Amino acid sequence: MIKSKLPHVSTTIFSVMSQLATEHQAINLAQGFPDFDADPELINRLNFYSSQNYNQYAPMSGVEKLRVLLSEKYSHLYQSEYDFQHEINITSGASQAIFNVISTLIHPNDEVIIFEPAYDLYQPTVELFGGKIVPIQLTYPDYSIDFTILKQKITDKTKLIIVNNPNNPTGRILAEDDLKQFEQILKDTNCYLLADEVYEHITFDGKPHHSFALLNAVKDKIFIVGSFGKLFHITGWKIGYILAEKELMKEFRKCHQFNTFSTHTPSQYAIADYLEYPEHYLQLNDFFQQKRDFFIHGLKSTSFDVLPCEGTYFISANYAKISDLPDNEFAKQLTEQHKVATIPISAFYHNKKDDHVIRFCFAKKDETLLNALDNLNKV
Ligand code: PMP
Ligand code: GLN
Repeated sequence: MIKSKLPHVSTTIFSVMSQLATEHQAINLAQGFPDFDADPELINRLNFYSSQNYNQYAPMSGVEKLRVLLSEKYSHLYQSEYDFQHEINITSGASQAIFNVISTLIHPNDEVIIFEPAYDLYQPTVELFGGKIVPIQLTYPDYSIDFTILKQKITDKTKLIIVNNPNNPTGRILAEDDLKQFEQILKDTNCYLLADEVYEHITFDGKPHHSFALLNAVKDKIFIVGSFGKLFHITGWKIGYILAEKELMKEFRKCHQFNTFSTHTPSQYAIADYLEYPEHYLQLNDFFQQKRDFFIHGLKSTSFDVLPCEGTYFISANYAKISDLPDNEFAKQLTEQHKVATIPISAFYHNKKDDHVIRFCFAKKDETLLNALDNLNKV
C-alpha cells in the first residue's frame, strides 16, 4: 500500500461531473471548456509546424518568438516590461506553471493564503510540498475580499498569497483599488503573490482587467500565470505561461527543467503566429458577453437565482427555491434527471461550505445553451 501524500483528496470534481454527464448523456455545462472548435487558421498553423519537422524539444524556456510576443503584449497592455530571455517561460498549461511556482516557493510549514471558493488545484499542491493553506472565505453572495481579514491572516510564516482574477468560480473581478491594497500588502510584508490570470481577456460590461502586471513597484514579488487554452479555445493543447522578475524566474526554472523540461513544440509555434494579431484575443470580451447575456436571459424564466458575473466563462446560481439538497447531490440529480451537468461550488471550499450554489459554464454553442435552458426551465 502506498502511504498517500494526499489522503483526503479524491478525483477532481471536473472529471467526476464530466464522467457523470457522459454516463447520463447530459449537456456538459460542468467542466470549463468550449464545445465549439478553435479558429481553423490556428489549427492549420499547428498542422503546418508538425508536418515541417518542428517536432523535437523546444527550448526549456519556450519558443523564442512566443516569449517575445508575450513580452510585447504585456508592455503594450499594461506598460510592464518583462524581458523575454529571463522573465518569461512557456509551460504545459497554466496548471503546470502554478504547480511549479508552489514547488519553487513552498517549504514545510510555510503558509499560503487562498480565497475560497478557490480553484481546486491550489490546496493539494501546497500540501504536497508540506505547506499549509490559510483559507479566507469570500462572503456569499458578493464574494469580495475583506482586506482587514487578509491583513490579520498574514503572519511571518506566510510565504504566498494566491489570487485568481477574473475569478473561477465566482465570476467576480478585482477593481483598481483592490490591486492598490495588494500592492501595499506586498510592500509591507515578505510574501510573494501568485496571480492566476487565465481569464484575463474575459471581462464584461466594459470593465477592464486589472492585471497584477500593473504593479511595477512590487514586480519582484509577483508571479503571473496565463493560459492559451482559455485565450484561443484550445484547452486540450495545454499551453500556458508564466511571467516573473529575473531572480524569481531563475528559481522557477530550476524546478521547471526537472518537472517537464519543455512544452509541446509545434503548438508553441502555431500559437506564436496566431498571437501576432491582437484581434484574436481582444474580441473575446464581446464574444463571451453575448453568450453570458443569452444564458442569463434564458435563466430568468427558471427558478434559479443568478449571481453576478463580471468575467470568466462561468456563472453561478442559487437553487434554494428549487431544492434543499446539498449542492453535490443537487448537481448529481440535475445531471441524471434533467440532463444538465454543473459544478457544485462546495467543491471549491476546504470545509465543503454549501450555499446551495452551482456553477454553469457558458463557453458553449448557442444551440447547446438553448437546449440546456430548455431542460432547466423544466426543473
Ligand atoms: N486556473 C484557473 C482559475 C482555471 O480555471 C484553470 C482551468 N483552465 C487553470 C488555472 C488551468 O489552466 P490550464 O488548462 O492552462 O492548465
Ligand atoms: N478550469 C476548468 C474549470 O474550471 C477545468 C480544468 C480541469 O478540468 N482541470 O472547469
